[in-house]
Amino acid sequence: MKGGDDLSPSPLSPATLEVFSKGSTHDSMAASAGSCAHCGRQGVALKRCMRCKEVSYCGAECQKAGWKGHKKTCEPRKTVEEVWHEVRACHFPGDWRGVLKWEGRMEELLAEGTDANNDFTLHAFSRAHQMGLKSTKGSVHAGRAIRLLEMRVELLVKMERFRDQGEALCAVADILLALDKMKEAATTYTRARDVGAAHGFFSVESDACLGLGTIAMNDGRPEEGLDLLRNAVAAAPLSEADEGAYSVNALRMLIDALFATNAIDELEPLVPRFREAVQAQSRREGRFQPAEVRNFYISARLHEVPCIPSYCPAL
Ligand SMILES: [Zn+2]
Ligand SMILES: [Zn+2]
Repeated sequence: MKGGDDLSPSPLSPATLEVFSKGSTHDSMAASAGSCAHCGRQGVALKRCMRCKEVSYCGAECQKAGWKGHKKTCEPRKTVEEVWHEVRACHFPGDWRGVLKWEGRMEELLAEGTDANNDFTLHAFSRAHQMGLKSTKGSVHAGRAIRLLEMRVELLVKMERFRDQGEALCAVADILLALDKMKEAATTYTRARDVGAAHGFFSVESDACLGLGTIAMNDGRPEEGLDLLRNAVAAAPLSEADEGAYSVNALRMLIDALFATNAIDELEPLVPRFREAVQAQSRREGRFQPAEVRNFYISARLHEVPCIPSYCPAL
């Protein structure tokens, strides 16, 4: 445990106000990244409340002024084990904000965890940032998610868990793609595809091919893009548990690409496969939304193509 500078926590009384971190390099660096919890000033040396170590102030005056509000939530700092349980309790119901509240303690979790524990820790925090990125579009989340996923990739190699490694790489690449970092995204998808191919994880290979295909299509290389998307579709049905999901995604993207390149001949044989995949996904998920919506979408588009008279969307 760290904490050469930790003074023993005072009881909840004005005495707490006097207690500051003496500011070891570690603490003052961590603290100066934030802002004063009372006046909001940034870029100044901050000192943490020594009782909870959750909030920082620029000085005694702000701490004193903020105490009336802060004392309602100021609780003694949790042990690493307690933090571990808190993170799990937030992660499983998908409370990403709750998980990220503990990110300041992540280093401690990693320092004391087994490989399996650390895999969960890195998964929980990277997942929380991915969800944060989805709902806030904050670029801070993107950078953190990538960093943590790359750390997890390293750990997974060590643990010889190659399927998860490939999936984590795809997740990194998806974020890079969303950030329009095409080159880096392509490099990372290629890494994922190699992992999937080397270890026979077709769902990983399919996912990586989808990403690479999307990039090639957007990049004005439709031939290459179509080939990659065909590969993605070819690999998808071979994946075990998530057959429906991967097939639907892969087929939908291939169908879109075929429309975009006017390769109508190839479309018709894909229609029954697409419907099958949608049904498989619906069964697996026990519901028809949103797979059915996508089915409607594709059906509607196919219906507009006069050269496929045999396909009558019976929806
Ligand atoms: Zn202040
Ligand atoms: Zn406090």
